[in-house]
Amino acid sequence: MRIGVPREIKNHEYRVGLTPASVADLVAAGHTVIVQTGAGLGIDFEDQDYRDAGASIVADAAAVFAGADLIVKVKEPQPSEIALLEPRHTLFTYLHLAADKPQAEGLMASGATCIAYETVTSRSGALPLLKPMSEVAGRMSIQVGAHYLEKEQGGRGVLLGGVPGVAPARVAILGGGVAGINAAQMAVGQRADVTIYDINNDRLAELDMHFGSQIKTAYASKAAIAAAVARAHLVIGAVLVPGAAAPKLVTRDMLKTMKRGSVLVDIAIDQGGCFETSHPTTHDDPVFEVDGVIHYCVANMPGAVARTSAFALNNATLPFVQKLADLGAEAAMAADPHLAAGLNVSGGHVRHKAVAEALNLPF
Ligand code: NAD
Repeated sequence: MRIGVPREIKNHEYRVGLTPASVADLVAAGHTVIVQTGAGLGIDFEDQDYRDAGASIVADAAAVFAGADLIVKVKEPQPSEIALLEPRHTLFTYLHLAADKPQAEGLMASGATCIAYETVTSRSGALPLLKPMSEVAGRMSIQVGAHYLEKEQGGRGVLLGGVPGVAPARVAILGGGVAGINAAQMAVGQRADVTIYDINNDRLAELDMHFGSQIKTAYASKAAIAAAVARAHLVIGAVLVPGAAAPKLVTRDMLKTMKRGSVLVDIAIDQGGCFETSHPTTHDDPVFEVDGVIHYCVANMPGAVARTSAFALNNATLPFVQKLADLGAEAAMAADPHLAAGLNVSGGHVRHKAVAEALNLPF
């Protein structure tokens, strides 16, 4: 199979579809890999690293799309990339089509087979190609939270772990899934006083077993959250209701009970956010203040640690890229229903039920 890796062109996107190590594995398996010059430069992968891994370097995206049948990316294709797609292409990347009808229509018109990372499933019913980014965002949430708790950043002037003789900061984590557990691991590592809130009792029991006495768990009732928010120095929003907007767990009224200079990190902002006062921010301007409480609501947190994120994403995507390359899209999806769950568009039609429903398009 001829595999192509264009340089990502979305604003501030430094990740790359394949790392040099992934390229080396694919070349060793007999595939041809074509990489656009500079594709990995933002995270310090030089063209020579790709050449050493066995790839050919080409001058532009047009040459990548012309020379490859399987295109591996990170972000959804931009209009100039959609224009290069043909029916012979398989596109494997994040698409997030449900809220992007123009992109869906462009992909339909291209005739290409488009497989979305975010709807590929695992045996347990989880979303394995979203998981690494939740891990990154969860871990990052504690370091950004600690940063904004510093006085110079407008924070309360509190050190997460305290010191001998001074109590640690109280961290409330709303949602104990992938992002929540990773946040908890970092907060525990910093010796903060950590409580995780969830409505899934089985999950609370797993967390209790996993962390033992290092954390507390609590059922996420409205009253429990109100009490937690009033006491907390740092609140992490990490809930997810699959396919739905995040529930607004922290209301404007609750915010008024918080200490000045405390910090909210709304990881769930990509699903609308779980604090009533949240709105999406960017890495250029990540925080704003409401009632003296700092809100960090960056919708693509993993972009800030693009090198770690690129490796983490590749670890998860490479087995699927290998299958697509070895067998071709049709046979690979026939052999693996979890990969088939990633199919969003092919032959000019939307092939994913939830995406079709969200876009009001025939399925
Ligand atoms: P997950 O499904 O693993 O965990 C979500 C948890 O929330 C579950 O344990 C669930 O029981 C719990 N939950 C649901 N409703 C709740 C409620 N009302 N109260 C308390 N808990 C509740 O999800 P995840 O992979 O950890 O993702 C969490 C969020 O982070 C998602 O919205 C995801 O899109 C987002 N995310 C954001 C970024 C970013 O850059 N901002 C990056 C990655 C993921």
